[in-house]
Order: sequence, then C-alpha cells, then structure tokens
Amino acid sequence: MADTWVTDMRHFLDETGSLSEMPNQALNLVLYFGSIVAWMTSVRDDTMQPTNVTCRRSPKRRRCVGEICASFEDDSSSIAWFCPLCGDNGFIRGWEETLWDRGVRK
Ligand SMILES: [Zn+2]
Repeated sequence: MADTWVTDMRHFLDETGSLSEMPNQALNLVLYFGSIVAWMTSVRDDTMQPTNVTCRRSPKRRRCVGEICASFEDDSSSIAWFCPLCGDNGFIRGWEETLWDRGVRK
C-alpha cells in the first residue's frame, strides 16, 4: 500500500508567491504537484480524469509509466490524485492563487 501524500502548495512559496529556495529533490516534487494543479485548474471538469502528468515513482527501480488521474474534492479546495498503475496517491491543498492556478475555476 502506497503512502498518501498531503501537500499544501503554499508551503513551498515565499511571501511574494515565488518558489522558495529548496533542494532539487524537493523542487522536483513541488513541480510535479504543480503540474497536477495546473492541469486541473485549466479544465472545466471536476470528474476523475487523466492529467497528462506522468507518475514520478520508480518502484523496484523501474520508472512507473502511469498517468496521474485527479479530481476535485466536493468543496473544490483540495485535489485528489492517484496513479492507476502503482497506487501512489494524495491530496493537494492551498493551490488557489498560486503560480500554478490557471484560474479557469474562478
Ligand atoms: Zn505510478
């Protein structure tokens, strides 16, 4: 069973809304979650759907090729996502008004 990631995008931004300084590994993770946010805020569709973002995991050292699926939770404030191949999954919060918010949902 994979871990569930709970990510608040605001934690990675400074007071001006720019990316904070962080190690590359953390930065890659943030950009990955950011891609999911960008996709979900650029479509007018709440339902579970593929996001065009490829899974970042490499179970047993083989790159997972799953396409991350995501949907908005009931109150729209969190995005639920999962990988249909490896089961990696999580929630993204605090994405509103960030640099990844494409604004279609306003
Ligand atoms: Zn995967």
